[in-house]
Amino acid sequence: EQTVVLITGCSSGIGLSLAVRLASDPAKMYKVYATMRNLAKKERLLDCVKGLHKDTLDILQMDITDQRSILDARDRVREKRVNILVCNAGVGLMGPLEAQSLATMRQILEVNLLGTISTIQAFLPGMKAQGHGRILVTGSIGGLQGLPFNEVYCASKFAVEGACESLAILLQHFNIHVSLIECGPVNTDFLDNLQRAEPGDSSLQQVDAHTLSLYDTYLQHCGMVFQNAAQDTEDIVKVFLDAIQSSNPAFRYYTNNALIPLSSPKISALDGSQYIRNMSKIIFSTNGKGEQK
Ligand code: NAD
Repeated sequence: EQTVVLITGCSSGIGLSLAVRLASDPAKMYKVYATMRNLAKKERLLDCVKGLHKDTLDILQMDITDQRSILDARDRVREKRVNILVCNAGVGLMGPLEAQSLATMRQILEVNLLGTISTIQAFLPGMKAQGHGRILVTGSIGGLQGLPFNEVYCASKFAVEGACESLAILLQHFNIHVSLIECGPVNTDFLDNLQRAEPGDSSLQQVDAHTLSLYDTYLQHCGMVFQNAAQDTEDIVKVFLDAIQSSNPAFRYYTNNALIPLSSPKISALDGSQYIRNMSKIIFSTNGKGEQK
């Protein structure tokens, strides 16, 4: 019997790679429901699987901010069960907090937080009834530690951590495992897709010069981090496979060990100030060429 996997956000990036990898399994172990908000974007996924996967792949429309759309997708799963739910869809938001509109902030929370939670909600009764299940969530370094100019994104991802940890405690009683796959920078469309205040935007006109200069330094830092440390989606997919294939999956998997020392002061110095000092130094004391001032 195939393991039925439903993945959100499969038109690009991590979701697309994971869908392709699982649907290409030589033993056809998995039946993948690759879902995406906009089916017009399915060509990229279809190109990657080269049309060879009729019995291992189905593509469904699913906008995680639309409850009807989530339930419709769920009801289209022919096997009438989902063994593994992968909550992956998400969007970024970058810029000085003063420049963010309430509507934009709502939208980020709507997708990353409420979208993830409503997806889990929709599949939970089925998993409980079948007596087993896996819920995998694409987590972020921004869900574990604060990052300047990413306040709302981090808030949404921290919130996902809280929801997942809370659920994991309860779901032990139902043989349902929750795991977060914590990613650092990954080469995907994420940076292109995220909403970002760009120098010259009208939203930045009201922002003070000091903040704008720090934002500029941050953007250079961010560019450097992506250039030097970004992983490919294949690296992330390997970690998803570890979690999927483990008989007793961990709650958190880290895709990039280089990032763990950054958060360790949060645990070793519980008052939090050391992490804040370290991060400020790392981000704001470079001269833009990656050299320390
Ligand atoms: P991506 O932009 O390529 O993929 C995100 C996908 O989510 C897109 O296909 C997008 O269409 C989809 N999506 C957005 N809103 C949606 C909605 N309402 N309903 C359904 N789908 C929706 O970027 P990615 O890097 O593959 O992102 C996947 C996940 O990884 C996100 O949750 C992101 O926060 C997380 N992440 C990414 C990085 C990174 O550096 N790329 C780092 C840490 C965590």
